[in-house]
Amino acid sequence: MKDKITKTNEEWRDTLTPEQYRITREKGTERPFTGEYVLLKKKGRYECVACGNELFSSDSKYDSGSGWPSFWEPVSPEKIGTERDTSLGMVRTEVVCDRCGAHLGHVFEDGPQPTGLRYCINSVALEFVEEEGGESGT
Ligand SMILES: [Zn+2]
Repeated sequence: MKDKITKTNEEWRDTLTPEQYRITREKGTERPFTGEYVLLKKKGRYECVACGNELFSSDSKYDSGSGWPSFWEPVSPEKIGTERDTSLGMVRTEVVCDRCGAHLGHVFEDGPQPTGLRYCINSVALEFVEEEGGESGT
């Protein structure tokens, strides 16, 4: 994917809700257990709310108990970028959408196997698209 999206803050403000703007452009964090996708177990894909880049699949989503949607791997490594984040006096790894640079959340090394990673992502930064015919009732 080479179609990077770059917009000015004003342009992002026009296309995102204030909460989406705060999270994705100002590296905000939604309050734990408040996001609409925290406990969602439906089958489908999670796209970047800002640009529609497919980021995560429900297949790698799990309940980490952290209060944010958690995944053990992205759909593919090229979809996301990581940056060192030393804000709040902690060293963390920030996760961003590789296409538009939206802040998504952070990745930690206390996730389940096979990756051992926990992608801790804000619901606000994601758009869930339910899989066609994915209604299994389980
Ligand atoms: Zn994006």
